[in-house]
Amino acid sequence: MRIALCPGSFDPMTNGHLDVVQRAARLFDKVIVAVAASEPKGPFFSLAERLEQVRQSVAHLANVEAEAFGGLLVEYVRQRGAHAVIRGLRAVSDFEFEFQLALMNRKLNEQVETIFMMPRESYTFLSSRLIKEVATLGGDVTEFVPPPVLLAMRRRLAVNPL
Ligand code: ADP
Repeated sequence: MRIALCPGSFDPMTNGHLDVVQRAARLFDKVIVAVAASEPKGPFFSLAERLEQVRQSVAHLANVEAEAFGGLLVEYVRQRGAHAVIRGLRAVSDFEFEFQLALMNRKLNEQVETIFMMPRESYTFLSSRLIKEVATLGGDVTEFVPPPVLLAMRRRLAVNPL
């Protein structure tokens, strides 16, 4: 059983994230989307909300599940017996940070392999930060996020508008 972990903050999950998860699901027997607590980042959605959104967004993918995690990624990889960490690369600008992260993780645990995957070209401009900014300013993000995320954003912004 080959297992891949897709870690991230997913605050919120975008169609770019989902595209990468789908690609990984075709290569591995099982994919775990690992939703990081990311408390220091002061997330827009709580961990429980993000986890639920990811769960609903991947519900149609039989070999994909979502879990929350905190602490060191390499430790979590070891606990889950995963064979690879999948990270998405949108542009060259992502590369430097992702390269550092992959090498640091390898330094912490030689067994951990990082695999980079590119999303569909039309998703390369999507970022969680931009989605939040556009939605908060009243822009339509329907085509950028999975339906469960759209619903959650609409609910949140209805309760807490500008
Ligand atoms: P983190 O806080 O760990 O950066 P993110 O949720 O922002 O978490 O990103 C998780 C992973 O998804 C990262 O590897 C990031 O490069 C990748 N990613 C983010 N947006 C996209 C996108 N539009 N297409 C493909 N990969 C993406």
